[in-house]
Amino acid sequence: MSVNGVVLRSVNVGESDKMLTILTPDMGKMSVYANGARNLKSKNFASSRLYTYSEFTFKETHGKTYIGESSPLESFFGIGNTLEGSALASYISEVACDAAVEDQPEEELMQLVLNCLYCISNEKKPLWQIKAVFELRCASILGFMPDLVGCRNCGKSGFDSVWFDIDNGCYYCEDCFKKIRIEHESETERIDELSGIYGKYSVVVPMSSSVFEAIRFVIYSKPERILSFQLKDEAISDFCSTSEKYLLSHLERSFSSLDFYHSVI
Ligand SMILES: [Zn+2]
Repeated sequence: MSVNGVVLRSVNVGESDKMLTILTPDMGKMSVYANGARNLKSKNFASSRLYTYSEFTFKETHGKTYIGESSPLESFFGIGNTLEGSALASYISEVACDAAVEDQPEEELMQLVLNCLYCISNEKKPLWQIKAVFELRCASILGFMPDLVGCRNCGKSGFDSVWFDIDNGCYYCEDCFKKIRIEHESETERIDELSGIYGKYSVVVPMSSSVFEAIRFVIYSKPERILSFQLKDEAISDFCSTSEKYLLSHLERSFSSLDFYHSVI
């Protein structure tokens, strides 16, 4: 039986072997060994390269899974063309590795990863856009889809600006947020209008309608449309910081590859 999967992590083992973490649609995250794969003449050399999407067959020996046959389907060579693109691919892989589960279907996550790697490799979209879309959709796939239909308190929609509650994945209109803010004033630890209000239990960030509409588009679009939007230059920074905060807050961790991405951008 053959399995399609994308290589998210590659660790050298011994003289010429590799241990790979592969993301597959039906079996989720898999740890497999690729014997001799660092040898140029190996039949598994091309398909066991980082970020390559391949068709694999596996064999089990002494409780370990080894790659038998393999053939690369998509190599995404363009990722290596820029340091920034490599850094983003590395972040996406680290998050997907952390988020994916073993022995559980991860088709949606795999398609998202492949879509993002394709766009990085082909320079189809700006990196900030690929990164933010990945973060928002990844959070949704993991069960943290925000509710952006109407204000959490009054249910109305169509505002010029809103307050987005990152931890609770919802938003409030100005009027409702003012009331809530007064009720929770004593719990507010720090107020910083630029980066949001850090309450005792949640982070709430102010948001313009263009940023809000972009996030809504990404959350509610079909997978093949998620990158088909444009954003005004002045809205990009808020859109990116909110998307990043949203994913990190729900995963409750940070990523060294993200620090590296920020250091090269
Ligand atoms: Zn309201």
